[in-house]
Amino acid sequence: MAKQFDAVQASTKAVWAGEEAYLVHGATQVPVMVSVAYGYDDMDEWYDVATEKKKGHIYGRNTNPTVQAFEDKVKILEGAEAATSFSTGMAAISNTLYTFLKPGDRVVSIKDTYGGTNKIFTEFLPRMGIDVALCETGDHEGIESALKEPCKILYLETPTNPTVKITDIRRMAEAGHTAGALVVVDNTFATPINQNPLQLGADLVLHSATKFLGGHADALGGVVCGSSELVKRIYHYREINGATMDPWAAYLLLRGMKTLKLRVRQQEINAMAIAKYLQTREEVEDVYYPGLPTHKHHDIARQQMKGFGGMLSFSLKGGMDAVKIMLPKLQYANRAANLGAVETTYGPARTTSHVECTAEERQAMGIPDGLVRISCGIEDTEDLIADLEQAFAFLSA
Ligand SMILES: *Cc1c(COP(=O)(O)O)cnc(C)c1O
Repeated sequence: MAKQFDAVQASTKAVWAGEEAYLVHGATQVPVMVSVAYGYDDMDEWYDVATEKKKGHIYGRNTNPTVQAFEDKVKILEGAEAATSFSTGMAAISNTLYTFLKPGDRVVSIKDTYGGTNKIFTEFLPRMGIDVALCETGDHEGIESALKEPCKILYLETPTNPTVKITDIRRMAEAGHTAGALVVVDNTFATPINQNPLQLGADLVLHSATKFLGGHADALGGVVCGSSELVKRIYHYREINGATMDPWAAYLLLRGMKTLKLRVRQQEINAMAIAKYLQTREEVEDVYYPGLPTHKHHDIARQQMKGFGGMLSFSLKGGMDAVKIMLPKLQYANRAANLGAVETTYGPARTTSHVECTAEERQAMGIPDGLVRISCGIEDTEDLIADLEQAFAFLSA
């Protein structure tokens, strides 16, 4: 009997969804289908599959069973009608934008989008004759006022890098639709466990699967979910332009996703504990975490998220000099540019999310020189706190 997922919760979906249709030989796990091409002895059947009258596969740039299993799992987790995947998160973002935009169009977004996304807005779209208005992140009135002029795409990301700002998706989706825009949300930080933008009124939700979905920092991927009609157009752009997900990556991401909810729950237990601990340290200037009642948009986060996620950041009073002393002392941490992995990962904004900016530009964006982003892993909370404690000791020494 084909499994139904309407009535079950996220972890049951994460474990079981999307797999059944791709199991062969009685296997309980989806195989890695490495074949690039699919052969047909019957010329009529070949034609029917090639013209999408019949289900099947033709060529690996278009579709692949392992990749489709990955897409189906994310689709069910996001409660979407359809999903299509990409080689990276940035491919998901750029292909989605290029599918719908043409010269003369206008895009409204926020200043704090992921660094690569921001580059598309400031470097690549303008030279195609597309006007981009970037509003202050979290300034809902500002975004609404930018949407008074016609707009093709309203592009949001919440929570954001690196100061975990929150945007009210439901309110912004309404304003976007009034302006005639497609509303797109990058849900990478929240994951489908904590936030489902389609249910809050967005038209498309996308992820860098490289981060929390995969969770093990060993595979790159991207995915976008929405209505069949919109996703079909994005799929067509991708199948021609070629940013296809590799079946080996799809397999690793599928395997990683089975533990998504367990990981996210432990990561946010760690994030909340670390946020509270950092608030007690006199060396710390500011702590940014949507789970703290002191966070500017804590109430919006409470409304639209089921949990506050594993991402936080903090700044040290001693600035970058203090960061240079403290960060290398941490034992149970990678100092690296990625996030969402099972290992706790620390990265200063000036070498990760905002490496392209000057110190003055970062200051103007409200990013202190000594800001450090933490992507909490799944380690035991006490050990992470003890690790921070011993690293802080070097600051007072
Ligand atoms: C990493 C990231 C991306 C880009 O994903 P890649 O897989 O690295 O291309 C996009 N959005 C957010 C929020 C990210 O963290």
